[in-house]
Amino acid sequence: RAKAAGRNAFRFYDPQMNVEASERSRLRWLLAHAIERGELHLHFQPYFHLRSGELAGAEVLLRWTSAELGPVGPNQFIPVAEDGGQIVEIGAWVLREACAQVATWQRQGLALPAVAVNLSILQFRHGDLVQQVADALRDSGLPARQLELEITESVLMHETDKVFATADNLKALGVRLAIDDFGTGYSSLAYLKRLNVDKLKIDQSFVRDALASPSTTAIVRAIVDMARAMELEVVAEGIETAAERDFLAATHCAMGQGYLFARPMPADQFEAFLAVRAAGPALAPEQAAADR
Ligand code: C2E
Ligand code: MG
Ligand code: MG
Ligand code: MG
Repeated sequence: RAKAAGRNAFRFYDPQMNVEASERSRLRWLLAHAIERGELHLHFQPYFHLRSGELAGAEVLLRWTSAELGPVGPNQFIPVAEDGGQIVEIGAWVLREACAQVATWQRQGLALPAVAVNLSILQFRHGDLVQQVADALRDSGLPARQLELEITESVLMHETDKVFATADNLKALGVRLAIDDFGTGYSSLAYLKRLNVDKLKIDQSFVRDALASPSTTAIVRAIVDMARAMELEVVAEGIETAAERDFLAATHCAMGQGYLFARPMPADQFEAFLAVRAAGPALAPEQAAADR
């Protein structure tokens, strides 16, 4: 209450403050209580082998339903959580929660080959990330090789020594590393090799443009060929049409994720999705999508 009054007073005495800044401070203040109030939850979006249609894993996507604001998207609140430093605590919660949930499903016979968790660069910088990951694995019983950690390419350029050291320690735990939004940043091949990553996720902007723009077609081909040469797995993000899927499969991109196959789902819905797949023969991904 006192904090709320303080914030309002600040607004009152500073009428020139821009709306964006005041919204961010409101978001930051509400976000500080989101974990304890149980307002954060995980969604799961599956990804598939494009040829066989087999389930390859699922990405965990954080959702915030604020009592005051309603649903707030991660593109809005993650940057705020990064500014306020809260992403370290939130990220640790996501790791624990994701590992516990997937391990529980596996004990119920609902197999999920891999779970991918997004990381913020701040978790590399400030948090005791390696310890958090080790704790999440130990407490849940999830095998390390089933956990994938996604880092966006654009943030990897900074503080490379610390990033390399942390990446080495994470790899030593047995987890896998993926570069998210690949193609939008500036990582060199030498850098990818040094980081010892396992997987590239081709950014959805390339997937969207690949069919219309010959230069983007060439970029996607080059990324897939490079990934194969470096023995990295490759996933295309944001596949929305059968034409995009067919192009990527023909380009030998092994895996795909996107609304064509399935949207991110809350845990109960994803559990039902896993149960259907555990019961029946492997569905082609587009049939899985039609299943929703
Ligand atoms: P991302 O990791 O690149 O996740 C992919 C985003 O694309 C997700 O957005 C997903 O819902 C969306 N998406 C998936 N398939 C399609 C499709 O076919 N078409 C379109 N248009 N979009 C698709 P979302 O859930 O809004 O998340 C946005 C970003 O927020 C993520 O991008 C990630 O960078 C960040 N984020 C989400 N959860 C976490 C988290 O737990 N920790 C951190 N640090 N960042 C997170
Ligand atoms: Mg991601
Ligand atoms: Mg991405
Ligand atoms: Mg993204």
